Amino acid sequence: MKGLRRAAPLSVVYAFMDAVRWRPHAESATPRRDRPIGLYVLEAGGCEGCFMEIESLAGSAFALEQAGFVCVSDPEDADWLLLTGAVTRVCAEMVDRVWRAMPPGRSLIAVGACAVDGGPFPAGYATLGGLQALTPVRRSIPGCPPSPQDILDALQELARL
Ligand code: SF4
Repeated sequence: MKGLRRAAPLSVVYAFMDAVRWRPHAESATPRRDRPIGLYVLEAGGCEGCFMEIESLAGSAFALEQAGFVCVSDPEDADWLLLTGAVTRVCAEMVDRVWRAMPPGRSLIAVGACAVDGGPFPAGYATLGGLQALTPVRRSIPGCPPSPQDILDALQELARL
């Protein structure tokens, strides 16, 4: 086998191709900041479809960090709270706790129909029917669910405001 070089696993090749494919174009890139915007993702009682679409943004197929964002695991490190789900009554206290733990300058973004107004889970005995029952929803990303690319595009748009 002398002279034969070991090929990279296919998954690495695909990851590289995806990264090239999804690299943001210069004209659509988010203006540079001194540090990435920290995103904390909280699922509060939906089908988890939106949550999974956001999760996939952190994969190699999407250039989340090159676009100026980073997912954080602690609300104290977060700039933006991305909330999915219809806000069940059980989850409402958790949403409040996470929001209070975030530093000043924080933003709340409803991702998906459930998070805005409950979507297919309107207010009832178990859910509050989305964030609008708790607070005016000023920033949202529509869809059921929005695709990862839709979410990334919307985040970049919001970052430009
Ligand atoms: S908006 Fe649709 S996909 Fe997202 S959590 Fe609700 S039901 Fe699921």
